[in-house]
Amino acid sequence: MSWNPFRRRAAQPPSEGTQDPASADVPATAPDTDYGEALAPTRGGLFGAIRQLFHDSRRLDAEFWEELEELLIASDVGAMTTARLTETLQRTVRDQGITDAGPAEDALKAQLVQQLVSSGDAALALPPDDLAVILVVGVNGVGKTTTIAKLATWLQHHTGRQCLLAAGDTFRAGAIDQLKIWGERTDCQVIAHQAGADPGAVVFDALAAARSRGADCVIVDTAGRLHTKVNLMAELGKVRRTISRQETGAPHETLLVLDAVTGQNAILQAKAFTETIGVTGVVLTKLDSTAKGGVVLAVSEELGVPVKFVGTGEHLHALAPFDPDRFVGALFQRD
Ligand code: GDP
Repeated sequence: MSWNPFRRRAAQPPSEGTQDPASADVPATAPDTDYGEALAPTRGGLFGAIRQLFHDSRRLDAEFWEELEELLIASDVGAMTTARLTETLQRTVRDQGITDAGPAEDALKAQLVQQLVSSGDAALALPPDDLAVILVVGVNGVGKTTTIAKLATWLQHHTGRQCLLAAGDTFRAGAIDQLKIWGERTDCQVIAHQAGADPGAVVFDALAAARSRGADCVIVDTAGRLHTKVNLMAELGKVRRTISRQETGAPHETLLVLDAVTGQNAILQAKAFTETIGVTGVVLTKLDSTAKGGVVLAVSEELGVPVKFVGTGEHLHALAPFDPDRFVGALFQRD
């Protein structure tokens, strides 16, 4: 039997000493990050102030509600989501006869978990025994390429799937080169054409290569900036159609990568993508770099799309599947 690079095998640790922009200062073999550690800035920042408010408040008076609203908005939860959260909490408190801040905090935590769960299943919906296709979209700079590498690594480690990467951002030569570097580091084959080539053709070749070589998964990178938003959405739509024509039921996931640091701006970006190309899940990156973190709640509430993964650092293993219970627990955890 000939050697097949895509047969399931144990994940290889990324090679040591590779210098690329995303790995210069961080160990590529760091273990999976837990939420508690990754959310330390958020916990010490604005959510710390929310915890403190519950801790210090004797009564749930007008001043308490006003301050809670202000802190939620400042945490990037967004005005609309904040209004809905506080209204629901006030109703729960009234209905259950809660007068102390402690039980009110527990009610808020339960409400947050409920809201995050109701936006959809956080697990990836991939065909168990067939080729999975994941389309990854998002504007430049949000961490899209890094996320593709992290996702390939995560899939390899946790599901045994060997991924092939498709360099569908043909708009920037740098994006193709960057994906090739990540391909080497993650032991994934990369299908790429020249800069300026038709991304549909890249995807076509990548899917054909995956089938002929017996790959388990194709992760498709896409452009993050064309001259206008209309051009970008038209191109993404075309890539999507190429995939569905070639593989029935694909793409199985269309993941939108958003940068948590950009807060409400991320929500605006997300609306453009969700309205036009049918996003199935969000990967929220750089959660380790913001003291806010409330954008997770705004994403689920305002977009109605589940957060599926969170980026918790620059290294290859800094990607955690999103778990509403653990996430809310970590936000409210007292150090
Ligand atoms: P792209 O233009 O969207 O493909 O973005 P890149 O993947 O090139 O990432 C842009 C920058 O964000 C790089 O410096 C990455 O190392 C960094 N980055 C990506 N994800 C994370 C994350 O979860 N946490 C942190 N702190 N940095 C990240």
